Amino acid sequence: MFDDDVSLDTRAVHSAREDLAALGVHVPPIDLSSTYPVTDVETGGASYEHLATGGALQSGQSAVYQRLWNPTVARFERALADLEGAQEGVAFASGMAALSAVLLAAVSAGTPHVVAVRPLYGGTDHVLATGLLGTEVTWATPATVAEAVTPRTGLVVVETPANPTLDLVDIEGVVAQAGDVPVLVDNTFATPVLQRPLAHGARIVLHSATKFLGGHGDLLAGVIATDGEWAARIRSVRALTGGILYPLAAYQAHRGLQTLPVRVRAQQDTAQVVARWLATHDQVRAVHYPGLGDSDPGGLVGTQMTGTGSVLAFELDSYAAAAAVTQGCRLVTHAVSLGGVDTLIQHPASLTHRPVAPEARPGAGIVRLSVGLEDAGDLIADLGQSLQQVSRRSATLTA
Ligand SMILES: *Cc1c(COP(=O)(O)O)cnc(C)c1O
Repeated sequence: MFDDDVSLDTRAVHSAREDLAALGVHVPPIDLSSTYPVTDVETGGASYEHLATGGALQSGQSAVYQRLWNPTVARFERALADLEGAQEGVAFASGMAALSAVLLAAVSAGTPHVVAVRPLYGGTDHVLATGLLGTEVTWATPATVAEAVTPRTGLVVVETPANPTLDLVDIEGVVAQAGDVPVLVDNTFATPVLQRPLAHGARIVLHSATKFLGGHGDLLAGVIATDGEWAARIRSVRALTGGILYPLAAYQAHRGLQTLPVRVRAQQDTAQVVARWLATHDQVRAVHYPGLGDSDPGGLVGTQMTGTGSVLAFELDSYAAAAAVTQGCRLVTHAVSLGGVDTLIQHPASLTHRPVAPEARPGAGIVRLSVGLEDAGDLIADLGQSLQQVSRRSATLTA
């Protein structure tokens, strides 16, 4: 699409828009058609066959039906694939729909065993732990992937930075241990601005585009970036099971990509200030943030990741203190999700990681913060007053 020397910032603004001038428009048209005319039965039948088995629309074919193909969705897919350095993208109605399609593809290939490196997003952990989609899971650490792989293993799943502890995993190390088994990296926290897993040997990249890619808290979407072979497999699952992204959300996600590099860097600058402030606060036992303290023993910041991101976690003394600080914020919103323009705070043990088995659940005192585009001083003032309420309350209780 672009020459290799074109920077990510330029790609983010222009990817999958190169035909717009010829169309006489400045922004991508939105195609909401649920069905598409077919010229004749032969072409229609051949188009259906091609798309339902995972093919990409070819010229002269009919898109047939939105569940099989949509040009607005395809634009977002092309743009995201370009940012990840992937051959293709495949977009879904949510991050979990995207993960489900990959898991179903592994199951249907006769390799239903998944090696999953904990910690993971709560929903990912939950769907793997229940075996709902026919997978069997072995939980691993970054050091035990090789011993967990069997001839029936179809996938290794890893998330870095991980949710919510911000643990960093060496992708190349996991890929080396996985051997022939494809490695899926959930790149939701880092985004292609800070980390491109395919360049480190991963085969499949997953995003909850609900988070940074969309960036404004107004859409739900998931997307996979991968090679042509895997893209066809999961497009076929998508066509059969119906998880395709709604075209309006695809338009919004594609627009979100244009400001992604700017947002990621600005939010990161603020997160670094907030993380350093939290690290000096006497009520805070620890701050988990890449690059802070001993959080990066493998030296992955600066090599695998070009930055530290804007999600952090901090630890308070107890479940009660962590719950109270999330509830006491005024400017910062107490809500799940992350990666948007506004700062969100939540308590993983009670909310996002509630379904996770007790031995893998994050500590009761951990609070997760996704830093947005507000002024750092205003955020610190709000967190400060909330922490002060907590300390006053515990002083009253102990008095
Ligand atoms: C939110 C999230 C998901 C799931 O995505 P949805 O769009 O909510 O379905 C998966 N992985 C990570 C890291 C997430 O933060």
